[in-house]
Amino acid sequence: CGIIACIGHTDDTVDVLLSGLSSLEYRGYDSAGIAVSNGTLDVRKREGELDNLHDAVDTDPISGTFGIGHTRWSTHGPPTDENAHPHTDADWRVAVVHNGIIENYQELRDELEAAGYEFVSDTDTEVVPNLVASFLDEGYDAAESFSRAVSRLEGSYALAVIVAGEDSIFATRQDSPLVLGIGEDAYYLGSDVPAFLSYTRNVVYLEDGQSVTLRPNGWQVKNGDGAVVEPPVHTVEWDA
Ligand code: GLU
Repeated sequence: CGIIACIGHTDDTVDVLLSGLSSLEYRGYDSAGIAVSNGTLDVRKREGELDNLHDAVDTDPISGTFGIGHTRWSTHGPPTDENAHPHTDADWRVAVVHNGIIENYQELRDELEAAGYEFVSDTDTEVVPNLVASFLDEGYDAAESFSRAVSRLEGSYALAVIVAGEDSIFATRQDSPLVLGIGEDAYYLGSDVPAFLSYTRNVVYLEDGQSVTLRPNGWQVKNGDGAVVEPPVHTVEWDA
C-alpha cells in the first residue's frame, strides 16, 4: 500500500504519479488509482495490477498540474474498482487517498448518510471525502474543512486530499508513513522516499499528527495544534 502526490509538474503529472506507484509496488497492493486536478477533478482507478490502471489511463487519458495516487491493500471491502482509491464525495468536490484504517468510520458514515451524503464503496476511507465536503457545505474554506475532517478521525492514516478549484494538496499522517519531497519547482508526497527519488533528494520526514499543505510555489508544515513548524530537511544519499 502506498501514496504518491505531486504538484508543480505542468505536462507529466500522470507519469510522475504512475511511476511513483511503480516504485511503491514492493509494499504490496491489490488495486491502484490516481486523481488529477484541472480545476475539476478526474479519477482513474482499477482493481488488480498497475497494468490495469495504465490501460484505463491509456483508454481514457486525464491530465492536470497536480494530483494524488494510491496503491491499496484492502482492509475494508474487497479489491474492486469501486473500492479502489481515490475516493470522492458524490459531487466530485473532494478526492482522497488513504493508507491505514479509520476506526470510527461506521459512526461517521451513519452520521453523514443521515445528513444526505451518499456512499458507493465498502471502504472506511469514503467517510473522509464526505466529511471534508460536509465542512465545505458549512462554509469553511478547503484548508479548514480538511483540518476539521481530520480532527474527527480515529485510527491510523496517511491521507492526501485535493479539492476542486483549489491549487493545493492537503495531507497528514497518524501511525502511517508519509514523506515530503522538495524539488526545484515541484513538491511531492510519498509513503516512502523511492516514490519520488528520481525527482528530488531533499526530504522532510513528517511526524505523527503533523499536516502539510503543498502549493505550486511552496509548502507548509503544521503541528497537530495548528502551529507552523520548520522541520529539518534531509538530503537522501542512497539510491533506490
Ligand atoms: N482501509 C483502506 C481500505 O481498505 C485503506 C487500505 C490501505 O492502506 O491501502 O481501502
